[in-house]
Amino acid sequence: MSATRLPHISVLRLGHRRERDKRITSHLGLTARAFGADEIYLAGEEDPSALETWNSVSKRFGGNFQCRYEDKPLSLLRKFSKDCGNGESGSIIHLTMYGEPWKEALPKINLDKPMIIVVGGTKVPGEVYRLANHNISIGNQPHSEVAALAIFLDSLVGDIDDQVHFSDGELRVIPNAVRKQVVNVEEE
Ligand code: SAM
Repeated sequence: MSATRLPHISVLRLGHRRERDKRITSHLGLTARAFGADEIYLAGEEDPSALETWNSVSKRFGGNFQCRYEDKPLSLLRKFSKDCGNGESGSIIHLTMYGEPWKEALPKINLDKPMIIVVGGTKVPGEVYRLANHNISIGNQPHSEVAALAIFLDSLVGDIDDQVHFSDGELRVIPNAVRKQVVNVEEE
């Protein structure tokens, strides 16, 4: 599916462990941004360095990607399931190897509501499964939250025109099959 009209898409990263998950959480946020999510919430251990990385990439490469630390992720989900900001329930998608195959689940997702995509790190609390509108698997084998998010967002959002979506960055990558080509917009 590649939707022409998309809701506001947030990603909630549960259970971050500052030392162990440093790189994977950083990559998760970068993947969320690159594949079309609007924001990421970091939950688990507080980690300003992850937020700094995401903000720095957004400043240099553009786009309007937001990030923040969330110390009460379950409260956030409980509230969002009832009221996503406009008095109506939001849509919660939980990526889990135990869920419904994504190709079957995608057509059932309501694209008229803001969405939070939840990915785990350590064990995910059972309440997340119950709060989720959809528990979705990207295959039923264990792999990575980064891979799961990338595949899910690509299926949901479809192709992103980087030159439009990230047009306000300081740096612009010009796709080139034979060499690296990056334009510094401010120096032009
Ligand atoms: N608990 C393990 C640990 O700490 O080593 C890792 C769990 S797994 C790598 C982390 C997250 O990746 C899961 O919570 C889920 O969101 C996502 N994930 C992994 N495999 C998946 C799959 N097949 N389908 C969907 N999501 C998946």
